[in-house]
Amino acid sequence: QAKAEGGNVYRLFSTTMDHDARQSIALEAELRHAVLSEQFELYYQPQVNLQTNEIVGAEALLRWNRPGHGVVSPLVFLPMAEETGLIIPISEWVVTAACAEAKRWHDMGHDDLRVAVNLSPTQFRKQNVPSLLEMALDNSGLRASALEIEITEHIVMHGSEVVERELKQIQRMGSRVFIDDFGTGYSSLSYLSRFSINGLKIDRCFIKNLEHDPNDAAIANAIIGLGKSLGLEVIAEGIETPEQVAYLREAGCLYAQGYYYGRPMPADQFRELLDSKSSLLVASTG
Ligand code: C2E
Ligand code: MG
Ligand code: MG
Ligand code: MG
Repeated sequence: QAKAEGGNVYRLFSTTMDHDARQSIALEAELRHAVLSEQFELYYQPQVNLQTNEIVGAEALLRWNRPGHGVVSPLVFLPMAEETGLIIPISEWVVTAACAEAKRWHDMGHDDLRVAVNLSPTQFRKQNVPSLLEMALDNSGLRASALEIEITEHIVMHGSEVVERELKQIQRMGSRVFIDDFGTGYSSLSYLSRFSINGLKIDRCFIKNLEHDPNDAAIANAIIGLGKSLGLEVIAEGIETPEQVAYLREAGCLYAQGYYYGRPMPADQFRELLDSKSSLLVASTG
């Protein structure tokens, strides 16, 4: 009897495994194919100067138009992309496309805008990041100072001398380096002095309840203060309400990004927004 039950349990377990394994093999195959068949797209989310209310640039966020699945979030396929090494060709595409797009903004007359791209930890291990950026800048004709990269605390905390060297090299080229999701990764701040960094992005978990949770407010204030003392630019992520805008402005935070100012949007929509900039900002600050 017990043995029979065990058999059933085993069979159930094994079926589930097969199912998951099959799912993930299918996903990997499709992801591989996606790189070649141009199923990726970059969405752009505006970054705004809180003092002037002007768009200063955009973060490029990856989307996968997966046939039969609609638009897929990077959170779903990035882990697989990292595991399989597909992150390398995907990121080459991301950096190239983002630089080309930013060059279009400049050519439209918005020539002080910057574009931020996210880089994943694997890339620093498997690839020379400065040469990747240089290649994309050369191909697009975008000046290096208009390109920013966002990396997580994880990269710098576990960062080798290679990371240290490459970050310096990126900054010598004229591009800038931001720590993404700042405050969620590690408590050690020593890397801020060891690695050369240009700015911090306050994670949106501290912004969400800013007006109601004194702890979150204290952390946001501390990050803004840290940025000031270290000469780092601070961008608050995940701004959704006018109250958050007012709070951050008062606290001396210079830059913000979030649904309040605009959701990540396809490139052509972002270009339209740039050309009708004043109307958006009047609407969103009113
Ligand atoms: P992230 O770099 O921290 O990007 C911000 C995420 O927060 C984006 O999610 C964005 O859509 C979302 N967001 C922005 N404003 C708001 C807001 O006001 N409220 C809320 N609730 N969410 C907001 P998304 O686009 O799904 O990207 C998720 C993560 O995937 C990114 O987090 C980034 O770590 C990674 N990622 C995106 N694109 C790339 C890429 O091209 N390469 C790499 N390596 N990673 C990427
Ligand atoms: Mg980011
Ligand atoms: Mg972030
Ligand atoms: Mg993130």
